[in-house]
Amino acid sequence: MPALLFTAVSVDDITPHMRRVTFAGEPVAAYIATGQFPNIKMLLPRADGTYGVPELDDPSCGADTPIRTMPELHERVRTYTVRRFDAAESTLSIDFVMHGDEGLASAWAARARVGSTLGIAGGGGKSIGLAADYLIAGDETALPAIGNILENLPADARGTAYVEVCDDSARQELTRPAGVEVKWLSREGAEAGTGTLLVDAVAAHPLVDGVFAWAAAESAQVLAIRKGLRKRGVERRSMLVIGYWRRGLTENGYAKKSNHDRDLKEFDDHTHEHGHDHGHGVGTKVLGLAARLRRH
Ligand SMILES: Cc1cc2nc3c(=O)[nH]c(=O)nc-3n(C[C@H](O)[C@H](O)[C@H](O)COP(=O)(O)OP(=O)(O)OC[C@H]3O[C@@H](n4cnc5c(N)ncnc54)[C@H](O)[C@@H]3O)c2cc1C
Repeated sequence: MPALLFTAVSVDDITPHMRRVTFAGEPVAAYIATGQFPNIKMLLPRADGTYGVPELDDPSCGADTPIRTMPELHERVRTYTVRRFDAAESTLSIDFVMHGDEGLASAWAARARVGSTLGIAGGGGKSIGLAADYLIAGDETALPAIGNILENLPADARGTAYVEVCDDSARQELTRPAGVEVKWLSREGAEAGTGTLLVDAVAAHPLVDGVFAWAAAESAQVLAIRKGLRKRGVERRSMLVIGYWRRGLTENGYAKKSNHDRDLKEFDDHTHEHGHDHGHGVGTKVLGLAARLRRH
């Protein structure tokens, strides 16, 4: 995929801790057409606003730089979730956890205004398996993904989603099937990535036959969640557990050190990488979540 330059058309604080930036225009239409969901790779600009990529610094230049193969740019690449898109309107929204200025992406979001630009380097990722019961766990960074998952589960889906947030002001209204309960876990102001609220909730959760477990949060919690689920007999093909960030490391550092603590054998049947939707065929275990992301 050629690098794309997205332009913000709205910036909304959906809670005091989460900012939604919506982009629109031709580059968004081009991205949606690639079908690369649910994750999106952003290339953040340098401090002087330039990207160091010809077609992002001058969209009319016609260059096609293979960003993902250029190590010197990786320091500025971040992975986020496409919270929503609308193919008819050519809009796409990303929800940013506001965790201060230490992070390139968080700092960009804090300064984002209508007209701000963001480089896009690609996308893709796995989604979630079809199951009799769902066990979902995540912190605020996973809230956009959990929002998508819940909106797109079958209407008769059953399960529980545990969402860890800094405090009650970070709760959001989530559209979900009636049979899926959302349980908010508050850190009561404690720093993100400290504590074991999600680990404890998952450990205490009664596992139902046919459960599919999805978890994403800070590295320490996802490692403990995976270990606990494996101990309790959940097979790797029935889980997808990914570290979304790691305390003390930038995303690039975390990816280099331990590939987001991924276990590539998890949910390795019939998965759909790069967002190609194989989810509607009979007999597949994949939900076509990406292709059915809700419209605005
Ligand atoms: C598949 C995937 C999807 C994701 N989707 C989203 C999403 O939709 N929205 C979202 O906000 N995040 C999402 N994340 C997490 C996000 O990529 C990381 O939080 C990323 O590190 C943020 O980049 P940054 O430039 O702000 O901080 P970085 O430069 O990467 O990190 C700088 C410092 O901030 C710390 N840090 C990073 N994230 C947080 C945080 N949330 N709270 C406190 N400290 C932090 C790091 O440990 C480091 O010390 C996703 C991650 C993955 C892998």
